[in-house]
Amino acid sequence: MEYKEFCDNVEATTSAKKAVDEFAAIQADGTHFCPRCGRMSVKDKLSTNALSRHVHVYICDECGMDEAFRELYGDDLPLREWAVAKLHPVSTYRLTMKQ
Ligand SMILES: [Zn+2]
Repeated sequence: MEYKEFCDNVEATTSAKKAVDEFAAIQADGTHFCPRCGRMSVKDKLSTNALSRHVHVYICDECGMDEAFRELYGDDLPLREWAVAKLHPVSTYRLTMKQ
């Protein structure tokens, strides 16, 4: 890997981690947006959902299952591939507001 590519990689990972952490801080019961796949698939009561193996944030059951399989095969989905890392912060805010 080139040095420039390495730096871009580190930067993308750092900002993705920040986006996921910021989302985790405002995630509450009734937030149905799954930060990993981007679907409104998180159940009403947060604690009944899957807790990510990588970040302290709740994800939907399907993503929880996907993480488990990926861990088994050593093929983790990088945080920068998470839906919340790809969203503009304004969009994230809107998606977490209660209806
Ligand atoms: Zn999901």
